[in-house]
Amino acid sequence: MEDDDGVIRPDFQAKHTLTIRGDEKFCAHRDITVSEFDRVIQCAKCEAVLDTFEVLLQYAKNERDGMVLAADIRDKKVEMDALLRQEKRLKSRIARAKTKASKQGVMF
Ligand SMILES: [Zn+2]
Repeated sequence: MEDDDGVIRPDFQAKHTLTIRGDEKFCAHRDITVSEFDRVIQCAKCEAVLDTFEVLLQYAKNERDGMVLAADIRDKKVEMDALLRQEKRLKSRIARAKTKASKQGVMF
């Protein structure tokens, strides 16, 4: 389905497939068809002709968001590894303390 000007904005983040904001219609289907011959991007499901800049913008934002998430995951992995090392050190300290205490006759 096409808008009056023949171009519909994609909205890959939308939860519903048909979104109308004001007078604008948005296609929220994620599958697209790229025609190199016609230089047109269409929704693979509803066949809406999509605004090519908006499609590129959506992909760029998704790429950026993905890169931010990947960096967050790397940071969290570093933090988790540090916590696991700290846990291992603390367990060793506890084991040594229990051994020392049991040698002194203290029971847990
Ligand atoms: Zn669509």
